Amino acid sequence: MDYTVIIGLEVHVQLLTRSKIFCGCSTEFNPTNPNVQTCPVCLGLPGALPVMNRQAFDLSLQTALALNCEISPFTKWDRKQYYYPDLPKGYQISQYDLPFSEDGWVEIDIDVAAGETKKIGIIRAHLEEDAGKNMHDESGRKTDSQVDLNRAGTPLLEIVSQPDMRSPAEAKRYLEELRLLLTYLGVSDCNMQEGSLRCDANVNLHIHEGVEKIATPIVEIKNLNSFRNVELAIEYEVQRQCEEWQKSHRKIGDVAKETRGWDAVRGVTFAQRGKEEASDYRYFPDPDLVPVIVPAERIEQVKAGLCEFPADRRKRLAVTYQLSDYDVRVVIDQGPAYADYFEHVAQTCGDGKQACNWVTQDVLRELNERKLTIGEFPISAEVLGKLLQRIPQKQITIKSAREVFMDLLAGADQGTAATSERIQQLIDEKGLAIVSDTGELEGVIASVVGKNPKAVADFQAGKQAAVGALIGQVMREVKGADPQTVRQMLIEKLSQ
Ligand SMILES: [Zn+2]
Repeated sequence: MDYTVIIGLEVHVQLLTRSKIFCGCSTEFNPTNPNVQTCPVCLGLPGALPVMNRQAFDLSLQTALALNCEISPFTKWDRKQYYYPDLPKGYQISQYDLPFSEDGWVEIDIDVAAGETKKIGIIRAHLEEDAGKNMHDESGRKTDSQVDLNRAGTPLLEIVSQPDMRSPAEAKRYLEELRLLLTYLGVSDCNMQEGSLRCDANVNLHIHEGVEKIATPIVEIKNLNSFRNVELAIEYEVQRQCEEWQKSHRKIGDVAKETRGWDAVRGVTFAQRGKEEASDYRYFPDPDLVPVIVPAERIEQVKAGLCEFPADRRKRLAVTYQLSDYDVRVVIDQGPAYADYFEHVAQTCGDGKQACNWVTQDVLRELNERKLTIGEFPISAEVLGKLLQRIPQKQITIKSAREVFMDLLAGADQGTAATSERIQQLIDEKGLAIVSDTGELEGVIASVVGKNPKAVADFQAGKQAAVGALIGQVMREVKGADPQTVRQMLIEKLSQ
């Protein structure tokens, strides 16, 4: 069967505001104390009037500009009517025909090694309020269902992509790039476990039969809560739609759009309900909220204040610090604070590659083991940079630097701050300084050579390996000697 997979994604992002979108209630994630973050507005009590949260609008504006969207100078609020226990007003405040932004794109990598990229179109990004959460008893004892309205009224940005993705892997890549961008912008914590980022996938197939191209009915898979599940659910759905086509030969338009859920345990999608059309919701402008007018100067102002985007930062890091695409990706993918840390280390020690090796290996390993964020890491970028500086300056070896690094961490665990002074102290205490005084070395080398006539004879008979044992003996005598220098001096001595 010859077919193309067509995927479009709708992503709901919870914005990082302290209060809800139309009232002053806290947006904190608080599942243990239901219904405490509520007021007459988000409970939908009669007579309560909403007021727009300016911060929510500003964060959306930043995101839409970073997504290369056109910003509408005039935007309004609409009521999307439907009844559900977690929606006490009986309607959701959203944006229908005049969203605040439209027509953007995000660039994703298709093949990093080949430098192949692809632009995924963004149809629109609009603001709306979240509903509460219905909690059904899953113990099988059939107790009552409950409703928690702590989340009702949390600001959500809905980002709707064009159906531009052609494989589950591309869909996953798009989500990764989108999440990275949102993280760098600082507009959302993108915590999928807490529901700060949720995704619906629209999937169908274009079947190629001779010169004809037939589209199969579109299926929307709702509420995918991890990138892995997005990939798996789409993979499953493609297979299912192939089989469905062979059985029924149903085309787009023959049946209503279908909504399906994803059962991660069984690894299948399942039918939920026929998808409502927009007309079912009886959208109309919300009379309680004034339209929002965005002056051109405001857009320019927000644009000027935007951060460096991850894609741009990748390019700059590769050039500035002479890093491979792989290294740059590891640094950028860990988030803006980590990328800042790396840049600080690199600038302090003056060697980008060395800094990258340490930050992406030693530091990352310790962060993972200690379950710390880079902001909590006991060795500051300045101190690590100062430590690494000593390697090209031939003050200590890489091996000794590692020893100091681990000692700094162990010290921090005991309450000793990891400072530059502490580095010097450790080097002195352990005698790790590279001995640059060749006078001392010469004496030790002469004595070691004198004590090992067999090794000397072996070397002079052409056995290069014999020098290894002698290096070891010299290093034991002179702590902190640079092995390279010792080897060189030994060979010179033996060749005399
Ligand atoms: Zn409220």
